[in-house]
Amino acid sequence: RAKSEGRNLYRFFEPEMDAVVQARRAIEVDLEAALPRQEFDLDFQPIMNIASGEIVGAEALMRWHSPARGTVAPDEFIPAAEETGLIVPLGEWALRTACTAAASWPPGLRIAVNVSAVQLRSSGFARSVISALAFSGVPAAQLELEITETVLMDESKAVLKTLRQLRELGIRIALDDFGTGYSSLGYLRRFPVDKIKIDRSFIGDMANHDTAAIVRTVIGLGTELGIVVTAEGVETEMQLDMLRENGCVEAQGYLIGVPSKASDIQRLLKSRALHNRIG
Ligand code: C2E
Ligand code: MG
Ligand code: MG
Ligand code: MG
Repeated sequence: RAKSEGRNLYRFFEPEMDAVVQARRAIEVDLEAALPRQEFDLDFQPIMNIASGEIVGAEALMRWHSPARGTVAPDEFIPAAEETGLIVPLGEWALRTACTAAASWPPGLRIAVNVSAVQLRSSGFARSVISALAFSGVPAAQLELEITETVLMDESKAVLKTLRQLRELGIRIALDDFGTGYSSLGYLRRFPVDKIKIDRSFIGDMANHDTAAIVRTVIGLGTELGIVVTAEGVETEMQLDMLRENGCVEAQGYLIGVPSKASDIQRLLKSRALHNRIG
């Protein structure tokens, strides 16, 4: 009986699954052509030091402007690019483009770039990072690579070695979307991490007593371990006040600034730097 039920279930889902597979395949085909056609772009979102109110850097966020599909969000195309392996050249392009943009920012500001697990596992990754730095002239100390916990679930020696190598160059490693996925405190012990970014789902729910307790605990943990804690998705003054009261180091979110074009972020960073020097 179970067997026939299973078969019915399969039949029931089959047309739908087919549509999903076909849609994914179509995205993959379009993506492949998109890189040579220069349909990708980076937006930059400012990151603020909470205590000083100064902008300390920005995160590069990839955009796909597809003539056929319009602007596609990274959550929709990054998984497809990982599937085909396109994420490797695409990620290389992002690193280079982000570093080149950061080269014209006021000195000392950090550029954060997201790195997929597939990229990090690819053999030439460290080399491509070094080459992006050399190409742009951005010092290693100003580059921050954002990885997610899924990267660390892969316990491979190669990934650990790559992370160590990059860190020895002075590059910072940030653990993105902290608290989602299979968070394990063990990762913080085993892997070299300079920063934790608390996922925006926690920040958005800080009015909830239990969520606020979790956020406070993660901030305390970071402080104890000497790891910078950044809150993602800060949208209200109330959230920022709570984070400040609890000693969170950095904030990022629509309240501080939305992701913006390279030219706009450059203007913002320059005017803030000038303001800080005068003030
Ligand atoms: P992420 O690295 O956690 O980036 C933060 C995401 O939150 C961004 O979404 C940003 O636009 C959004 N966000 C920022 N502030 C707020 C806020 O106050 N409220 C809300 N509701 N959202 C906010 P985005 O740009 O759609 O990117 C989604 C994810 O795609 C990123 O999450 C990152 O994991 C991935 N991604 C983006 N660019 C790249 C890239 O160049 N390479 C790789 N491998 N992944 C990327
Ligand atoms: Mg990120
Ligand atoms: Mg995140
Ligand atoms: Mg994310």
